[in-house]
Amino acid sequence: MTNYEIWQAVLAEFELTLSKANFTTWFRNTGISSYDQGRILVCVPNTFTKSWLEKKYHTDLVKTIERVTGKPVKRVEYRVENIKNVTEKECITENTPAVFTQKQPAPRSTGPKNSLLLQFGLNPKYTFSSFIVGKENELAHAAAQAVASKPGDTYNPLFIYGDVGLGKTHLLQAIGQAMLAKNPQTKILYVSSEKFTNEFVTAVKEGKAKEFKHRYRTVDLLLIDDIQFIGGKEQTQEEFFHTFNELHQQGRQVVMTSDRKPKAIPALEARLRSRFEWGMIADISVPNMETRSAILQAKCQEKGFSLSENLINIIAVSIESNVRELEGALNKIIAIHQLKNTPTTEESVREILVGFAAQHAKPKATPSKILDAAAKYFELSKEDLLGKSREKKISYPRQVVMYLLRKELSLSFPAIGQELGGRDHTTAIHAYKKIVESIEKNEKIQQDIERVTQELYAV
Ligand code: ADP
Ligand code: MG
Repeated sequence: MTNYEIWQAVLAEFELTLSKANFTTWFRNTGISSYDQGRILVCVPNTFTKSWLEKKYHTDLVKTIERVTGKPVKRVEYRVENIKNVTEKECITENTPAVFTQKQPAPRSTGPKNSLLLQFGLNPKYTFSSFIVGKENELAHAAAQAVASKPGDTYNPLFIYGDVGLGKTHLLQAIGQAMLAKNPQTKILYVSSEKFTNEFVTAVKEGKAKEFKHRYRTVDLLLIDDIQFIGGKEQTQEEFFHTFNELHQQGRQVVMTSDRKPKAIPALEARLRSRFEWGMIADISVPNMETRSAILQAKCQEKGFSLSENLINIIAVSIESNVRELEGALNKIIAIHQLKNTPTTEESVREILVGFAAQHAKPKATPSKILDAAAKYFELSKEDLLGKSREKKISYPRQVVMYLLRKELSLSFPAIGQELGGRDHTTAIHAYKKIVESIEKNEKIQQDIERVTQELYAV
């Protein structure tokens, strides 16, 4: 086997296990530079890829090379080198099949037709192959793939949760697309829980409940986005309960996303909650620096825009909240540079990022906003919170306010006492400690704090 053949075989194995985005991002323009008695030098296009392969894929690479060659590997090293120099060294002639990057483009995606996708409300962009897998989403991604290949079998339901902008809708729709690609006859319903609610209410009002039931209970795959909004809606929950049971009994797949785990969805009936927990619960958390860089790298490739590793890192460092914002910032950088037709420089990128951050900054909290948010959530007046009443229904919300004044604004305890109608600093300390101690054990308190915080930062 020539080095070229070995590498092609190795790539073929990786291509099977990685998403297309991950594969092209990390294995484009790579090759074997030299192979000498188990010592292998892999050429990579930049230091970014080098450190990624070293950290993430090294063990797998070694194993795969051993499997492909049938010989033990002593050492694998990575060197930044132009792939062209490597192929020339290997004396590959013009007629030899071109290196990986120059190989014929893969036949156009055999995915479902756009018209089919649109009919089901799916965005053609949200596929498995455009999804970058990192530590923070690998469980959810693997579960989604398992569901798409064996629907109704392994994990039913699949419940994916995580904060906004982390790829839940993307994965949910990817399942639908993968199933449609395999079988265009698959009956899919993709709806947000709000749409489900609205359709149900309208159906009942118009005497079409039967049609509604039939529509939802005869699909192969039900994808419900943002299920948390079903909380507190009793009739919708009842309807969803029966829909769920029917589908589940028939071995039809249900997948849901939510911004929190089932336990933390307020006013969710226990019987529904327990069903949400039947199958698999997978969370997605905020991507770390490495994953953020990988996503930026992939999005640049997708958009045909080139950014240096340094600039990618600058963007990844400054936007850490979620992928939607990361993509937004990148789009802005691309748009501005294309519009002005200027090269990207550290200065120009930083300038755009500053503007972007200012636009997307969290609205600033103030003591008075915290009081307002708590009063609204607990349905009390500001005067109640500032007043003297020791009734539990007032004293507890007051403690929550004191806790948030500390947590969100880092106010000193005497200042917190002042804000609450001139109370003593020991009262503030006591309140803060009490909440900190109970928050761990008590989900209701956790939920209250979360809700007041949401209220506080709601735009
Ligand atoms: P959520 O539903 O969790 O709020 P979305 O699925 O709408 O988030 O994702 C927000 C944006 O970020 C989408 O454009 C999506 O394609 C992109 N995105 C999120 N995670 C990834 C990922 N791991 N790889 C590629 N794109 C991602
Ligand atoms: Mg979403």
